[in-house]
Amino acid sequence: LPKSTTEQHRKSHCCVPLCSASAKFNGILSFHAFPTHSDLRRQWLVNIRRDHFTITSHTRVCCRHFASDQLIEPTTLDGRRRLIKGAVPTLFEWNGYKVEPPRRSVWERTERRPELVPPDDQEEHSLTRDHDYCSVPEPSALDISASAAEDLSEDVETLRKEIQELRVQREFGLQRWDIKILEMTLNHQKGT
Ligand SMILES: [Zn+2]
Repeated sequence: LPKSTTEQHRKSHCCVPLCSASAKFNGILSFHAFPTHSDLRRQWLVNIRRDHFTITSHTRVCCRHFASDQLIEPTTLDGRRRLIKGAVPTLFEWNGYKVEPPRRSVWERTERRPELVPPDDQEEHSLTRDHDYCSVPEPSALDISASAAEDLSEDVETLRKEIQELRVQREFGLQRWDIKILEMTLNHQKGT
């Protein structure tokens, strides 16, 4: 290949990991050289996750990695897309090509506390509050489809019967205990 073609190819390849952009396949993309300012250059390398990458004069980052406010669109048809002064690539495969919201300061982050009661639990509590005689939590109303409603009413009826039986057993048990106490008391009195 002639030197100029090789050079053109190298300038039209994005060095960002997981980005396969090349001018060969996508003419609408622009390819931007690294900044000369060392701090800014460092920021680019950190952002593209290639800390120890050796930059050459041919190394390019494609426009996909810059937010629209970092780019200056060409004003003429044959014009080139340019970067604003101090532009930094922020959009990548690993963040879904979305800019993360600005980070909170350490102070703000430590101020944050997790909710003591998740909203879901509160809702569940209010749903079961009126039915505290029933130890089995009712399924969420949202889960009850029209076809399942009949089955559920049968289940509720079964549970109601079971509760009634338990209640009877408990009362019977208490009565038996009462009788036992009564018998003991009577025996005690007989003994005296
Ligand atoms: Zn790219």
